[in-house]
Amino acid sequence: IITKLPQVGTTIFTVMSQLAVEHNAVNLGQGFPDFPMDGQLTDLVNKAMKNGYNQYAHMHGYLPLREKIAEKIQKLYNTSVSADSEITVTPGGTYALYTALTTVLVPGDEVIVFEPAYDSYVPAIELNGAKPVFISLKYPEYAVPWEEVRNKITSRTRMIMINTPHNPTGSVLSEEDMVQLQSVVEDTNIIIVSDEVYEHLIFDNIPHQSILRFPRLLERSFVCFSFGKTYHCTGWKMGYCVAPADITAEFRKVHQFNCFSANTPVQVALAEFLQYEEAYLSLGQFLQHKRDYFQQLMMQTPFKALPSYGSYFQCFSYAHLTDENDRLFAERLVKEAGVATIPVSAFYSNAEDNKVLRLCFAKKATTLESAAKRLSNFK
Ligand code: PMP
Ligand code: GLN
Repeated sequence: IITKLPQVGTTIFTVMSQLAVEHNAVNLGQGFPDFPMDGQLTDLVNKAMKNGYNQYAHMHGYLPLREKIAEKIQKLYNTSVSADSEITVTPGGTYALYTALTTVLVPGDEVIVFEPAYDSYVPAIELNGAKPVFISLKYPEYAVPWEEVRNKITSRTRMIMINTPHNPTGSVLSEEDMVQLQSVVEDTNIIIVSDEVYEHLIFDNIPHQSILRFPRLLERSFVCFSFGKTYHCTGWKMGYCVAPADITAEFRKVHQFNCFSANTPVQVALAEFLQYEEAYLSLGQFLQHKRDYFQQLMMQTPFKALPSYGSYFQCFSYAHLTDENDRLFAERLVKEAGVATIPVSAFYSNAEDNKVLRLCFAKKATTLESAAKRLSNFK
């Protein structure tokens, strides 16, 4: 049997969701909302289908949608990007990331990856014959150790991947981080892949430090987004990639032979729905309330909350409770407490275990209450 990914098993999200079903657990593991999405948006998809938008969309994405995205970027980040040559609509954020890596990487290239890292990054690097170079974010703040980044750059460093707001930790990059990143890549040909799928899920009035705000970074970047996160429809698998025209041209060469184009009626609906700015501008506040409510509920449990500034994840330390490793502990929690979580070691190449679990709070109040109650009864 041929295997290109000998180290890879089944993704932790599937493993934990499966266990949650088997044990009838409250699922705060895999990140997805359990409340309904906006009915107006689903109506728009229906309308698009009825109006005959059922054939292939343009390979680059439905043009009115790309135009709306460009307008939004102008408004939010004060950056002018071309709908024609710098935005490509993709079937999801993961696909955009994978395509970005595949566009650039050749065997022998090195890619700097900060850990914990979203679990699709490393396999995507390895499938392209490149080598991840790992740097641990400094626990418990999960800050980027910039000096170490400088030390790990070699002549083979081809890319740096960043992710803000960050999955799984909920940390966010500051303006100072972006300045550091800029100074690291200056005078190199390093390309940046920026995973910004949680751009609107950021709390406490902290501004999202998008690459799109920094022209000198944008000129060497792929910036990846997901509508699944923004509009509570993770099952739609719809996203986009913003990159300068020369980079986008290469990205599209790969994209056209992989899926060619993304779902048409959903793109038509999104093009219309993007005019309702409140829908994405209110998202941070909406989830901040959930974070605060969940943190308050979790005070009744022995788990210790780490800071969460963005994403829809809240990490908790249980180091003071047991020495058990986080995978075994998470499995025991599903079986014995009836709550599914994600062990954060799953996001490290060496399974670094700080005894931290990630819980998703994009859930109805009753779901959060039920999970906290189960955890407070757990011995
Ligand atoms: N990056 C991160 C950090 C994520 O959490 C997700 C969510 N699954 C994605 C990318 C991918 O988004 P999508 O579901 O649109 O592929
Ligand atoms: N991004 C989601 C999470 O982190 C899950 C996506 C997936 O299941 N691949 O939980």
